[in-house]
Amino acid sequence: MDGLAGSPASSGPAAAAGCGDVPVLRERGQREVFCGLTGIIWLHRKIQDAFFLVVGSRTCAHLLQSAAGVMIFAEPRFATAIIDERDLAGMSDANDELDRVVTRLIERRPDIRMLFLVGSCPSEVIKLDLSRAAQRLSKQFSPAVRVLNYSGSGIETTFTQGEDACLAALVPEMPAEPGSARSLLVVGALAEVVEDQFLRLFAALGVGPVRFLPSRRAAELPAVGPGTRYLLAQPFLAETARLLEGRGAQRLAAPFPLGAEGTTEWLRAAAREWGVDATKFDAVVAPGQARARAALAQRAERLAGKSIFFFPDSQLEIPLARFLSRECGMTLTEVGTPYLHRQHLAEELAMLPGGITLSEGQHVDRQLDRCRAARPDITVCGLGLANPLEAEGLTTKWAIELVFTPIQGFEQAGDLAELFARPLVRRARLMV
Ligand code: SF4
Repeated sequence: MDGLAGSPASSGPAAAAGCGDVPVLRERGQREVFCGLTGIIWLHRKIQDAFFLVVGSRTCAHLLQSAAGVMIFAEPRFATAIIDERDLAGMSDANDELDRVVTRLIERRPDIRMLFLVGSCPSEVIKLDLSRAAQRLSKQFSPAVRVLNYSGSGIETTFTQGEDACLAALVPEMPAEPGSARSLLVVGALAEVVEDQFLRLFAALGVGPVRFLPSRRAAELPAVGPGTRYLLAQPFLAETARLLEGRGAQRLAAPFPLGAEGTTEWLRAAAREWGVDATKFDAVVAPGQARARAALAQRAERLAGKSIFFFPDSQLEIPLARFLSRECGMTLTEVGTPYLHRQHLAEELAMLPGGITLSEGQHVDRQLDRCRAARPDITVCGLGLANPLEAEGLTTKWAIELVFTPIQGFEQAGDLAELFARPLVRRARLMV
């Protein structure tokens, strides 16, 4: 192993004609998506005393550096332990090398409280058992540092599934909720500003205590038990949800908190569980709803009547499509998603208009043909497809931006619409 490759400093309104039972076009073939390592870019900012050590190749290091290069951070909290030719050829003991790299890292960085060993394609190819390594290193460095592991490899994960794998690794570490004390757990990484807005709304509703997974600090992992009710803040957390339910938590079914409508229904699911009366609920959410609707009205005229096509990428596609169709007046052509979790997305699917193509998985060539035939006003896709499509005269929106940007909640609804209006404005300027 080649040491560390550093990182840059740096009650629902279900539509009558919803999509709940619409057949899904399932495709398998070549995919154009990032691997799960990408999640480190937002997760390392979220858990402020964690460090993400990718056990991977120079390709993995380059992916992280170029993805992180989109933003500037004061403190690098991720790096890549490079598996070199000697490791790949079995000429060195990769476990010894890993222990050496981790020991040096922890000595140099006493601020680290939680260390994630993140698996990659190369670590899988040489069958490096990172779960045993994490147990071994945890024994060595506990109680100061907890060492966990998950896979971000492109063989096992796509893009946002890295967050699911990371949060799933945290679930067994969560303390047990004493007795059957009731609490609300918000699951999925959110920007702190968004968490604070939601905390104020839940407090005004009398819903609580409210905790977040992931927590901001490793030592503050929320408790979980049969009294835990959880709300998914992100639609790509299937494994985390499964494990939480294994610990007794119950999911509150709701659409995702995107736009005025999604946010209202998401909050309503918790309010209903806590027995908040309708008058109080309406009074608490009304100011936020009004601000969101006013912000949306300014953008909606640029989006209304425009068509949009989603390539599968972040798993946010269905909630975004619902928001753009119902609150911005956009016309949906195809909505592609890498995976469709029917249970978690049931409320979203019921709110989509009929007559659209829903696709799951990817056969990129066929999908490109459908996109070219549809000639949408905006195409949402990964970075790899955006440039070629722009060159063909299609206006694109990078899906990755939607994961990096705070888009949840009332106060962000206008910004979310703006993210889609901007490429149209840019294209219009270029056409003049
Ligand atoms: Fe590439 Fe695999 Fe590394 Fe991801 S984990 S950057 S897909 S080699």
